[in-house]
Amino acid sequence: MFLTISTTGTAERPATDLGFLLHKHPDNAQAFSTSYGTAHVLYPEASAERCTAALLLEVDAVALVRRGKGKGRGGAPDAALAQYVNDRPYAASSLLAVALSGVFSSAMKGQCTAKPELPARPLPLRIEVPALPARGGADLVRTLFEPLGWTVTVEPVALDAEFPEWGDSRYVRLVLESERLTLAEALRHLYVLLPVLDDAKHYWVASDEVDKLLRAGEGWLADHPEQKLITSRYLSRRWSLTRAAMERLELVRLAEADDSEVGEIDNAVDEETDTEDKPVPLAVQRRDAILAALHTSGAGRVLDLGCGQGQLVQALLKDTRFTEIVGVDVSMRALTIASRRLKLDRMGERQAARVKLIQGSLAYTDPRLKGYDAAVLSEVIEHLDLPRLPALEYAVFGTARPRTVLVTTPNVEYNVRWETLPAGHSRHGDHRFEWTREEFQGWAHAVAERHGYAVEFTPVGPEDPEVGPPTQMATFSMSTATVTTKEEKAA
Ligand code: SAH
Repeated sequence: MFLTISTTGTAERPATDLGFLLHKHPDNAQAFSTSYGTAHVLYPEASAERCTAALLLEVDAVALVRRGKGKGRGGAPDAALAQYVNDRPYAASSLLAVALSGVFSSAMKGQCTAKPELPARPLPLRIEVPALPARGGADLVRTLFEPLGWTVTVEPVALDAEFPEWGDSRYVRLVLESERLTLAEALRHLYVLLPVLDDAKHYWVASDEVDKLLRAGEGWLADHPEQKLITSRYLSRRWSLTRAAMERLELVRLAEADDSEVGEIDNAVDEETDTEDKPVPLAVQRRDAILAALHTSGAGRVLDLGCGQGQLVQALLKDTRFTEIVGVDVSMRALTIASRRLKLDRMGERQAARVKLIQGSLAYTDPRLKGYDAAVLSEVIEHLDLPRLPALEYAVFGTARPRTVLVTTPNVEYNVRWETLPAGHSRHGDHRFEWTREEFQGWAHAVAERHGYAVEFTPVGPEDPEVGPPTQMATFSMSTATVTTKEEKAA
């Protein structure tokens, strides 16, 4: 299995910088042992004008089988011989992708301590894979790489060069060229798409493969037109994992869309401080209502679930009654902005000990969320598809089980009062639903009933006699009976 990565350069920006980026010196040939054999890195050419790094993986077919990871396609029992006599040693495949991530892990992460400015710089790149198993043929290869900014040359490889009449093999020779991509992006594309084209993973696909896929896919997979095919093939068509990955990609997408919404709220908050006679923005009224309800509940340790860019976390930090504050969001980008807003890196030790931001999805139970006094879901539930709401209910009310849960959501009846909102439109493109007061209260009562909570409702914002308030808030309190039984159990 073999691939080469080439770049061109000038005297000021020598092509041999590739060696720094890959963390492998162009003058040396190096060998690394991997779980599937030996990976060699060498440079067939290395000058200021042109530099090529080659990765060669010598697969140990016997070790592969002994490790129980060399199952032939489908793993049929009569494929015993095929386990030893197969294309593994020659074709670029998932094993090459594994070797790539092992040997070039810093490059894949875009790290380069020697020359920190290099990884972010797009390079003229040419990647060649002489024998790539491509299920789906040349067309699929183009469909996968072209949307990512590659110029793709793909040639079928004949089954046998001496007998052209036998037709093409399932291999292609692939050349990718681009001037727009960074090396880290290129490696992450290969890491995901080589196994996708091979479509037969040779190691056990465990659930951490979802994390690996999302990490390598960051910045490109959520918007790729073939996202579904990539995800399902990468995860060896294990549907439960594929669905989990698709859901998380969906959340990444909508969380990114949310950033704009949260940004608008932010401006509103800034305006509020310098104009006295303007009405208080709804986002501020909502935050005040939440703070008041948290005070009444006596909570000290609080979860802000779907914390977005951290405005509520910031308000909570200013109030010493809150001793521990945890912001949770699925969007890494939102959390990065939140951490900047809170100046987490410059915070004193005592203050820093009170606050934590963690990435997580509320559609999955999460042991890190257990044992808090209160949880806030401010303008979050409407961002989940309705069929996913029971999963959130189970994660929050069934598993995390704080004594108090505050949920706010738009009251759709009020939408007719928004002057700028066309009839029948929801307030934000990413709202999956907006509820009437009756719908929200119906849901909240059922949740309270199922999980041993009492629930009360508070209007937020100016209450209209006909259509009610713009925001509705439910305060769930764990019923005394439930609390007592829990405490008895703990005793
Ligand atoms: N609570 C904030 C932000 C609301 S926007 C406020 O009141 O201003 C909705 C937030 O929920 C976004 O930041 C989005 O990333 C997050 N979110 C949506 N679905 C989520 C899920 N399943 N798990 C965790 N966070 C989610």
